[in-house]
Order: sequence, then structure tokens, then C-alpha cells
Amino acid sequence: MTSINAVTSLTRDGDIAVITLDSPPVNALSATLRGGLLEAVGQASADPAVKAIVLICAGRTFIAGADITEFGKPPVAPSLADVELAIEAATKPVVAAIHGTALGGGFETALACHYRVAVPSAKVGLPEVKLGLLPGGGGTQRLPRLVGVERALAMITSGEMVGAKAAAELGAIDALVEEGKLLEGALGFARDLVAKNAPLRRVRDLDEKLAAARGRPEIFADFRKENARKFRGFEAPESNIRCIEAAVNLPFDEGLAVERELFIKLMMGAQSAAQRHVFFAERQAAKIPDVPDDTPTRAIKQVGVLGAGTMGGGITMNFLSAGIPVTMVETNQAALDRGIATIRKNYEASAKKGRLTEAEVERRMGLLTGTLEFDALAPSDLVIEAVFEEMSVKKQVFTMLDAVVKQSAILASNTSYLDIDAIAAMTRRPADVIGLHFFSPANVMRLLEVVRGAKTAKDVIATAMQMAKKIGKVAVLARVCPGFIGNRMLHQRQIQANRLILEGAMPWDVDRVLYDFGLPMGPFAMADLAGLDLGWTAATSKSATIREILCELDRRGQKTGAGFYDYDENRRAKPSPVVAKIIEDFAAKTGAVPRKIPDQEILERSLYPMINEGAKILEEGVAIRSSDIDIVWINGYGWPVYHGGPMFWADLIGLDKVLAALRGYEAKFGDEFKPSALLVKLVEEGRGFKDL
Ligand code: NAD
Repeated sequence: MTSINAVTSLTRDGDIAVITLDSPPVNALSATLRGGLLEAVGQASADPAVKAIVLICAGRTFIAGADITEFGKPPVAPSLADVELAIEAATKPVVAAIHGTALGGGFETALACHYRVAVPSAKVGLPEVKLGLLPGGGGTQRLPRLVGVERALAMITSGEMVGAKAAAELGAIDALVEEGKLLEGALGFARDLVAKNAPLRRVRDLDEKLAAARGRPEIFADFRKENARKFRGFEAPESNIRCIEAAVNLPFDEGLAVERELFIKLMMGAQSAAQRHVFFAERQAAKIPDVPDDTPTRAIKQVGVLGAGTMGGGITMNFLSAGIPVTMVETNQAALDRGIATIRKNYEASAKKGRLTEAEVERRMGLLTGTLEFDALAPSDLVIEAVFEEMSVKKQVFTMLDAVVKQSAILASNTSYLDIDAIAAMTRRPADVIGLHFFSPANVMRLLEVVRGAKTAKDVIATAMQMAKKIGKVAVLARVCPGFIGNRMLHQRQIQANRLILEGAMPWDVDRVLYDFGLPMGPFAMADLAGLDLGWTAATSKSATIREILCELDRRGQKTGAGFYDYDENRRAKPSPVVAKIIEDFAAKTGAVPRKIPDQEILERSLYPMINEGAKILEEGVAIRSSDIDIVWINGYGWPVYHGGPMFWADLIGLDKVLAALRGYEAKFGDEFKPSALLVKLVEEGRGFKDL
């Protein structure tokens, strides 16, 4: 055996050379690994006794991608492209032997080999688009040559992994070998090639599948159209598509040049920086300074959910889907029946789309017990309360939970705004009480705000964070304050939205600006969706706000076919002349003189007060770090990933500019815009949120 360098070795098995890469944990394509691989390919090629070369990885996976710690730093030779060109140019067949996940640059390395074998459990993919990038190591040029343009478009612009079996059917893998016998299988495959004197199959030279797409630009046009909504605002998908177009229309080396140029553009751009920030921020959010990773956790084997309404049902689904039994308790039989029926309906809709088997639907439903008996919660390891948002109701419920549920259980509230400490104080075990704030629809939205009370025990926090991961959520830890992180910031935006429409902007103007910024919808479309009558009653309504007036007119949102907007039978929104008139009349009564409000002002007044509130949240220690706030907004409110979250975005604009704008609005409109002390301090020090 020759040791090439710290992570690369070269051995011989008969006339087959075996290059083994061993760089735990995932054999990332570091400069050392690239250098070792290049050297090993050179030595094996030069050895006259070698007839073929197998490239295999030690540990749990084939090369799983780039070394992302190198991103944004000056490149170190050899580049991945150099290594790939050397592999492809080798005069002896090179066989990639794949297990684990061959991703990004790892899969691209395999694509530069002449053949690929894999164990059935292996997965391959080009996930670069998820970081706002494109596969810059020839992936956009080689993959379509193997799997065809349509499949390459789908794989590369989604970034999704494909299992080895499917990849073999597509043509990206040449042979599957027995699980656990990758090396033997790859050696056998290589010997076969030698025995058959098989040609060197250089992917760059394949043309059959590209030829099938040549002269058919509609393939690309249709793909763009079909995915317009999904790709809205993102730069990377379009660049990926253009590379694949280049693969079809240009010679290989010119295609590579296009790929290179577009890759560099994306890599230097703001969107990829934002998307990489989000990638790291999400991992960071799991780290809690005073709750170390090795904090003991409590076992959650049985969950109780109180309330079978909108949230209770969605929350329950998370646990059923993760295989954890749930007892759902209601006070009202009709509500219980409705709640259970909705859960079933949601699962069956997934089954209809082929995402679940009927057996799996039944298995999940089999884990659910619905009851009106409060005592049925007694054996739960975790109870999540999702009853009406009323302090008196919450207090009563927690008094009862304290009396009934076993000791060592975690008692959680899904409250959106209320004081977790006041709720915990109703029990004799405030250390076991925590906020678990899910977002609607709770079975879909990835965010979970975990709210620690003043007395919440560390193992309860650790358990909540771990449980979140188990049910597929991204958890962010917050401390108690009205609205926690997300809704507290949202409230600031809401105040401005309501002001703006009294000053001359229409709801659809405000919504359009925020939609164009990249949010899924603006505040008024969102209000219509949620229902304008949340917390509204006819008896107490006094036409004191636009919202009250709309409810009084039975314009209560999408569900009544009208709210801030008019809705047609397909729930498509149209600006409403009736609402425009209501707003104008209402504003006139307040003495306001309507003016044309520029889009930039709408954007700044909607988002800058949120950033300012985010700064206060940091100042008060409600959030641990600014990137946690970004994760809340991306996963709970649809903040566009390519803007990196509100705090990242603020840094990008420049906090000095944000501060100056806030001061300008403060002079005009008053205290609502008063800059937080932290923001002022950061600007004075020339620092950003990222430097905290
Ligand atoms: P909902 O009105 O849809 O459901 C509440 C359910 O609780 C009703 O079915 C009611 O019958 C039941 N209930 C009331 N008192 C009960 C009791 N003592 N025991 C058992 N069941 C009882 O309300 P929702 O929208 O699901 O909200 C529930 C909680 O979740 C609230 O605290 C709310 O603030 C919070 N929340 C709501 C959303 C949202 O978007 N809807 C998002 C996050 C958090």
C-alpha cells in the first residue's frame, strides 16, 4: 500500500488499483483530498501493471460534497475541475464505488469517472441549488449526458437526492452491487471491463441523450413555466437551467466555461451568501449556551394534546407521523370528531398524491386516541395544550394538568402571545412547563419556537429541542415576552400596514410590495386567509377600525368570499372597490389627507420596524443570536431564503442606512420608529448583527 497523503491511499488488487479516500466524517473535497486524489490517479495511471482503477471511500459515505469551510476563501490548487479532468483523461478505466451519499462535488467526481457502481442504499444528488449555487464541477454538463435533459433539469434545480436504484434506471449508475460488498463488487466490475477490453466511457463524449433534446427549446420553456412559482425570486435555478441549455447547444468545453462563469457569478452574489448563511444558521439554532449537548433528556413515548382545533390537530399529526402515539382530549364531542376527521382527511390527501400508502394512513390513525376524558392525559410524557387563547382558560387547564398528569411529564403550551411564567405558576412544577409554539398549519410549517420560562428546567429544554428534530421541525429557543420572537416582530409590521392604508396606500399596494420582495403574501392577504374575525365579536364591535367595519359587513375574509379583497369562486383575490371606499371614508373622518406612498416607503416602514424590534429582542436576550431570528422568519413566515432573514438582510443593507431611515420616520411619525439602543450602538461601532 502506498500512502499518498493523510487522507489518500493507493493499493493494488491484482491488476486493479484501488484509491481509498479516508477523511472523516464525510470525505469532503478539501484541498488535501483533491491533492491526494490527483496524485493517486497519476501514479495508478503511470503504473504499467495497473489495468483499471477503483475509487472508493472509507467511513460512512462516498465524497459527500465540497468542503464548505473553503467557501468565500481564495481557491487552493488543485481545483476540483483539474482532478476531474485528470480522472476523465486517464487511459485506464476508472470506476467510482459509491456508498452513503455522493453529493455535489462528490457526485461530480463520480460523474468524471468512466463508470459508476453503487450499493442499493447509496444516494446521489447535486444539492448546490439549495445554497444558491450550481454544480460547478461539470455536473450540469455531465449529468444530462447520462440521464437526459428532463431528468437532469429536475434533479439539478430541485437539489433532491436520488436513490441508487433509481439512479441506475436513469443511467447515472452503471451497476448495483451487493450491500456491504462494495469493494468486491467494484473490483469484479473493473475486472469485467478489463476482460472485455471495454472502451473508456468518457461522459463528456456521450451525445445520444443530448441529441434527443437538441432543437427542442420548448423543453426549457415549459420547464421554466411549470416551475415559475417555485423558482420565484431565486437566481440559482435559472442559472442551472442555462447551464443545461449550454450542455445541449454547445461543445463540452464551452459548456463547462458557461458553467464556470455562472457559478462564479452566483458564488459572489448576495443570494448565495444569504442561502449559505441560512444553512449554517439552522445548525447553529440547535446550540444553547447554557444547555450543553450532553444535557440528559426525558423519553417522549406518549403524547397528550389538549384541544382538537386548528392547531391541536396539526400538532397531533406531527407525532403520529413520527410514530408516537397521541391522546387528544377535547371538551366538545363535535370538535373532537371534526378534529379527528380533519387529520384523516389530510393523511388521505397525501395518500391520494402517492406520498403515503393506505396502510401507513391506517397505521398513523391507529396511534391516535380521541377522548373527552381529561384523566386520559395522566400517563403522557408530554402534554401540549392548544385550547383557546385566553389566560383564564390556560390557567384553568394547567391547574388541572398539574393535578392529573404524572410527575416527570413535560407540560407545554402552544400559546401565541401569553405569559408562560404566569401559566407555569398555576402548577406545583413550573420547572416542567415550557412553551411549544407551533405555526399554522402545524403539520406543515417547519418552525417551532421553544419558549423557556424563568423556571423551565434545562433537561426540559433539551428534550423539547430534541423532540422538535424528531418530528422534523426547526426549533428556535426564545424567552418569555408577548409574542416571543416571530409574532412580536410581526406586530410591528402590522401596526405600519394599518397606518399605511389610512395614509393613502391600498391593502393591495402594501401586499404587492411585500410579495415582490419575496414574501408569500402581504399582511392583508394573510389577514383574509386567517379570518378577520379572530378575536372579533359582533356584540363588542364599534366600527372603530377598518377590520371591525369589514367584519360588521360580514366581510370576514376568504371563508366568507370577501375581506380586504373580493374573492371569486376559485378564491382568487381582486382589489375591492367597496373596501377602497370604506378606507377612504374612514381616513377622511380621521382628518388624514391621502397621499401617494412610494413603494420604497411601504417596504421600509413594513420591514425596518421589524428589524428594530429584532434588535430589542436581542438586547433583552429573548433570542440567543440574530441568526435565530432569521430562522424564525424563514421557517415560520416565509421570509425569502435568498434574503437570508431580516437580521441578515439588515446587515446587508447596512445598519447605518436602516438607522438613518428609522430616524427619518421617527421625525415624521413619532415613537414607533424610535431606534433601539442596540441598533444605535452597533452603528456607532461600525458593526453588524452578525458581529454580536
Ligand atoms: P381553535 O379554536 O381552532 O381550537 C381550540 C380548541 O380547543 C377547540 O376545539 C375547543 O373546543 C378546545 N378547547 C377549549 N377549551 C378546552 C379545554 N379546556 N380542554 C380541551 N379542549 C378545549 O384554536 P387554535 O387556532 O387551534 O388555537 C389554539 C391555541 O394555539 C391558541 O393558544 C392559539 O393562540 C395558538 N396558536 C394558534 C395559531 C393559529 O394560527 N391558529 C398559531 C399558533 C398558535
